[in-house]
Amino acid sequence: MNAITAIPFDSARLDAALARFPRQRAMFINGQDVDADGERIERFSPAHGVLVSSVPRGTAKDARAAIAAARRAFDTGPWPHETASTRSRLLLKVADLIDRDRDLIALMDCLESGKPIAQARGEIEGAADIWRYAAALARELSGDSYSNLGSDRLGLVLREPVGVVSIITPWNFPFLIVSQKLPFALAAGCTCVVKPSEMTSASTLHLAHLLAEAGLPEGVVNVVTGYGPDVGAPMTADPDVDMISFTGSTAIGRAAMAAGAATLKKVSMELGGKNPQLIFPDADLEAALDAATFGAYFNAGECCNAGSRLILHADIAAPFLSELAERAAQVAVGDPLDEATRVGALISPEHLGKIEAHIRAARDAGAEVVGSGERLSTDGLFMAPTIVAGVTPGMAIAKAEVFGPVVVALTFKTADEAIQLANSTDYGLSASVWSRDLDTAIAVGRGVKAGTVWVNTFMDGTPELPFGGYRQSGLGRELGRNAVKDYTEEKTFHIHTGARTSWWLPRT
Ligand code: NAD
Repeated sequence: MNAITAIPFDSARLDAALARFPRQRAMFINGQDVDADGERIERFSPAHGVLVSSVPRGTAKDARAAIAAARRAFDTGPWPHETASTRSRLLLKVADLIDRDRDLIALMDCLESGKPIAQARGEIEGAADIWRYAAALARELSGDSYSNLGSDRLGLVLREPVGVVSIITPWNFPFLIVSQKLPFALAAGCTCVVKPSEMTSASTLHLAHLLAEAGLPEGVVNVVTGYGPDVGAPMTADPDVDMISFTGSTAIGRAAMAAGAATLKKVSMELGGKNPQLIFPDADLEAALDAATFGAYFNAGECCNAGSRLILHADIAAPFLSELAERAAQVAVGDPLDEATRVGALISPEHLGKIEAHIRAARDAGAEVVGSGERLSTDGLFMAPTIVAGVTPGMAIAKAEVFGPVVVALTFKTADEAIQLANSTDYGLSASVWSRDLDTAIAVGRGVKAGTVWVNTFMDGTPELPFGGYRQSGLGRELGRNAVKDYTEEKTFHIHTGARTSWWLPRT
């Protein structure tokens, strides 16, 4: 592989960015800024090594206070009873405020997570669009009616908000992921307790203030910062919580479901993935190469939807991989504050260590590592885009979610073999099929067990289309026309009119 394309640091640019927002932040409970009783969590930019935010290390007591506030706001507050028009207008106002603060929010996510600033800006724009879509759905939420049950019976099915929702989010798309959940919960009339990742809390705390500015009543949205076992675990077990909406790893999702099972909470789970890109020889290989590069290295591969498994037809595998190696070397890696950067820093030294361990194990198992497979020797947590070729289906790296700028390559000879390989992990989040023959693309796409299948494209998304995983990639779907319904309960009204036939009197 060629030398990587490194983007250098600019300390004046970093100073200017840091001057734009306060580093000390408080939690947001019952409409108030609340500080921790004790410790704080300090976040250092993984790209620059400087302190970028400090948030309270919340405790189970803080989680409890937030849940109690959300419960009160649901049981006695106005929000669940507001008209669809009022809720919708508030969500639209929030979308406008997100637009207003776009650059600031993007900067927070960029500095805390290490993602490129231009990409972060796009995510915030996408998030505002989702708030607008939720505002539209709020006006559409309706139940059902049955007038075909006989002239003395009428059936009505009401949609009521499910209640208090615990929303728990990961660090890889801090603002986008909370925006895939919160506006729909609010559109339904729910109240919420939100826990962002301990590493990327700033933009979610900022959002809480935008909600207050837009006029959301106190207690409807509460944000508690802190670690999973301290804050997330009580949020999944508390009897006053009615639903858990979780995005994160499959292992923690499983634990959250188990904790919620004791009180039979409704759950929505968006979990991990090891997503295949199946490439047939008749595909537009130029487009497929671009998508393979994007899929593997977008967000430094720290993406549930990463196209981290290339499944290549044997006839094209060698030239395809050699071209991919050329392109991987041209991807700009470095300072996420630079507009040209495409791959920023990885989230933490521990995570980078895990990625390197995956690559070492693959090398030991006989795979060929193209690219260094190691951290770059600059300051910060950067890694060169890497390809692991010669992978066989039994190798650990063929199945594990590496969550770094690493793509593995397997080969197939027939369409059936391609489908079998695609389905050979425990996950089923997304997949893409590349072929100019639509018969092939559709047949293969139908055979793949995945919540989303792209044909001749990759990672396109829009709020209109549902998103979620098969198998151990999740449970339920976000976005799409049912996104608000997910945060509701159905109530059946069975109405009888006129005289009712007696049960105990003998019929004459
Ligand atoms: P994680 O599971 O470690 O953490 C997710 C959240 O859960 C964090 O806020 C964390 O503090 C909290 N948490 C930790 N322990 C908890 C507990 N015991 N109870 C309740 N909450 C707890 O995930 P991560 O490392 O932050 O994110 C990466 C993972 O997220 C990857 O597996 C990725 O695929 C997945 N992800 C999935 C999607 C999707 O939509 N399917 C999107 C983004 C990320």
